Amino acid sequence: MEAPRSDIDGAEIGGAGVGGAGAGIAARAERFFATRILPRHADWVAATQAGERMPAFVATLREEARAEGLWNLGIPPRAGSGGPGLSNRDFAPIAELTGRLPWASLVFNCHAPDLPNMIMLDALATPGQRERFLVPLLEGRAASAFAMTEPDVASSDATNIATTIRADGGDLVVSGRKWFITGAAAPDLSFHIVMGVTDPEAPRTARHSAVLVPADAPGIRVERTLRFLGWDDHVAPIGEIVFDEVRVSAANMLGEPGRGFDAAQVRLGPARLHHAFRCIGLAEMLLDLMKRRMRERTAFGRSLAEYDSVQQWIAEGRIGIDMSRHFLNHAAAELDANGFKASWRAISMAKVHVPRMLQEIADRALQLFGAAGGSDDHLIHHAFVYARMFRIADGPDEVHLRQIFRSEPVPEGALQDSGYVARRAAGHPNDNKTGRTQ
Ligand SMILES: Cc1cc2nc3c(=O)[nH]c(=O)nc-3n(C[C@H](O)[C@H](O)[C@H](O)COP(=O)(O)OP(=O)(O)OC[C@H]3O[C@@H](n4cnc5c(N)ncnc54)[C@H](O)[C@@H]3O)c2cc1C
Repeated sequence: MEAPRSDIDGAEIGGAGVGGAGAGIAARAERFFATRILPRHADWVAATQAGERMPAFVATLREEARAEGLWNLGIPPRAGSGGPGLSNRDFAPIAELTGRLPWASLVFNCHAPDLPNMIMLDALATPGQRERFLVPLLEGRAASAFAMTEPDVASSDATNIATTIRADGGDLVVSGRKWFITGAAAPDLSFHIVMGVTDPEAPRTARHSAVLVPADAPGIRVERTLRFLGWDDHVAPIGEIVFDEVRVSAANMLGEPGRGFDAAQVRLGPARLHHAFRCIGLAEMLLDLMKRRMRERTAFGRSLAEYDSVQQWIAEGRIGIDMSRHFLNHAAAELDANGFKASWRAISMAKVHVPRMLQEIADRALQLFGAAGGSDDHLIHHAFVYARMFRIADGPDEVHLRQIFRSEPVPEGALQDSGYVARRAAGHPNDNKTGRTQ
């Protein structure tokens, strides 16, 4: 069983553990990335800087990838998606690889938010919903958004979500304002999965439901396109949107009424893992850039590669990446084996750790590159923004840390009862009457 290796810069992608069909597909995806995607990156940057949202060659690359079976690689085995049905663990090296560029995951139809939305629909959609909403996504002729966050409430506590979904005859009527919704500002958006309150009288965790809302339904207004730290999401532009008495059929309820948070969990586990693996891809890309730069740049009579500080940055970067990868592979394997409910802790720990690791490497890369590091010529700023984004989106660090803390077993008994604490026998020399230590 051969672990896939990068032929881009010699760094291992994905680490050991991927086998069989997964390894073969990862190797083919890697070749496609190196020979067809990466050579077009400069064109992608030029086109998007010139104001194009998505250069036309991306559609051609998508067709080519699909023809070669490199399509829907992140959909788990049960989906009947036309994809290879890789496990999360087998998809890991591909998510990592595509994370190196902001647009690469789109080529394999493995991009956010469509991929987690496909996973959610695959698990919960009725046959009619599958036909109308899931199949077009799987075939790459639709785009979706997941609309939960709202400007007027602290949305990291999802029970605060205030958008209403009111039953009216055979319809559902959606009213509310959402923001920072990835993909919501895309002109070709097909539908939203909207989270809202269906039963305000129910207990806080049983009030919300998920509903499928076509993007062209009357009453939807895209108020503005948002950037995060100045970064435009070209793959899935981020929007602020208003749902003004938007009417859809009651058949658009996704999953059971009042079980909206359970429904959302189906997509959140994989979504967090995918983002974290993309972070590792970005970190590898940065380390590659740093190693090239340090050799080429001379300051005070020495190449940057000769300075201890730079050598330590590289070494610490390598430690951070490899530790994160092991950690994440473990979380992916847990998700595959035991499902989200049993693996949330491993995923949450990785979700906190991995973007911090990327942020640290991005900061060092920025330092090493000097002013050039903040320019549009490199993806250092993108990596920095991605790390910062991921420390907030899909649950801020503090929320995950709180849950991890709560799941941490606290031992019974007082500190003095611990066998690790040396007990002082009566008459210990330090227990003298003068209070002075001898
Ligand atoms: C680039 C980007 C893309 C996004 N895409 C989407 C999307 O597609 N769909 C979507 O619905 N949302 C999306 N989001 C929104 C994101 O999920 C929310 O921003 C996030 O859940 C936090 O909610 P909030 O912004 O309302 O922050 P708040 O809830 O106001 O929290 C602010 C801060 O309060 C602190 N805090 C909160 N709870 C605790 C706690 N328990 N303990 C200690 N401190 C705490 C944390 O420091 C937290 O960062 C996106 C965000 C970004 C930046």
